[in-house]
Amino acid sequence: MRPSFSSIIVLLSFAAMAVGKALAWGEPHHAITRAALEVLPAWQVDALGPEFAALGDNYCLIPDNVFTDKANAKFATMDNHPGEVYLKRLHLPFPDQSENLVTVRYFVDKIVATLKEGKMGDAARFMGTLCHLIEDFGSPSHTIPGDNMFTLLQQFMPPSEIMKGKLLHGPIENGNFKVSISGYQPQLLGASVEEVSWRLLHRIHDGIIRARSTTLPIIQALYADDADAVLTHQMKAAVSDAQIVADAIHSLLCLGAGKFDAEAVEGLGSFRLDSLWPIEAVSLYYPQSQFFSSPFWGHARTGEVLEGGVKSVPIRLLIPEAEETIEKSFEHGISMGMGKPLNWHLPSGVYRRFTARIGLQVGLGKKGRVEFTVLGDGKPLSTATLNGTDPAHAIDCDITGVKLIQLSTVGRGLDPKSNYAIWAEPQLSKSH
Ligand SMILES: [Zn+2]
Repeated sequence: MRPSFSSIIVLLSFAAMAVGKALAWGEPHHAITRAALEVLPAWQVDALGPEFAALGDNYCLIPDNVFTDKANAKFATMDNHPGEVYLKRLHLPFPDQSENLVTVRYFVDKIVATLKEGKMGDAARFMGTLCHLIEDFGSPSHTIPGDNMFTLLQQFMPPSEIMKGKLLHGPIENGNFKVSISGYQPQLLGASVEEVSWRLLHRIHDGIIRARSTTLPIIQALYADDADAVLTHQMKAAVSDAQIVADAIHSLLCLGAGKFDAEAVEGLGSFRLDSLWPIEAVSLYYPQSQFFSSPFWGHARTGEVLEGGVKSVPIRLLIPEAEETIEKSFEHGISMGMGKPLNWHLPSGVYRRFTARIGLQVGLGKKGRVEFTVLGDGKPLSTATLNGTDPAHAIDCDITGVKLIQLSTVGRGLDPKSNYAIWAEPQLSKSH
């Protein structure tokens, strides 16, 4: 949870004052990594052998110690970034999710390759780097894109007397805490390098969002000098990070050994697209450029329709059933406006089909007319134009080999205020 390059510069500039404090900065990495290791199945603890302790005691800090731990520094570098000793991308997420996927996939690939070669020492060091990335991205101090030192935020929330003139980054994330996730069952994230990297990236997104929910409460607690409250909120982020680290290490060791739990593999057969942030949500929020103007001034939503931009209502579609059509509510789905397509990366060679029910929201969309298109790597895979009174259409496309899936909606009628377009139960499946 040490920081960004910029804060290192700050630290170096004030080295004399900051050095004592800097020594404590690594603690949460140890605590979170150890908590994750404790919930691994016995065969994985055995497989790690002496590296089990080293991962929590040392390797999870490799990316922070690249200038002092020269022997291990190479495990925190990337071949396509020659000469870069301190890789900022291991500590702070890029706004562009594609770049983060490249980083995660690089280390997943290295870890699996070295495990398959039987080089557990190397694999565990690369694993330490990946643990560090997960923990840093999910740190309450790393949650505000572009404001890692909370300069802007402190203009909105001026510090109290006791925090005046102090840097916030360290106090927000640091503490001498112990983390436990005992009872947590690590999840298998995939059965290939591609699938594990992709699922792990999305688990990391979950961690970033969870950490964000703790940042302001921690700052308020720091301003109030309430150490207990600081810890309570820090622990929420730390527990979430430990679970993600556990999923990562567990999945990597399964991949390396080619040893999978059949039930867990079966559980990976399909995946809901609406549970993932699209590429357009850079930094995991919708930027101004992604707002659409009709049917209201908003952005795509999941699991709800925003009526007139003010009222959340459940997704409802007309569904053909036997001789008639019935109204049906859907818990899962995406509602979106016109002209702002959504894109998601797909892990190559993993999913074969994309299915969804498309249509316009019952009632609200009555006077609308929308052209729905699914594109795979830029090529149309399925398209349909529906009126607001038409029953929902079931789409089923072959996405074998597709690396980028896009959902596009274009208004084709005269009443843009009625174009409440719905993709209900959008699902990726491995089976044909
Ligand atoms: Zn770091």
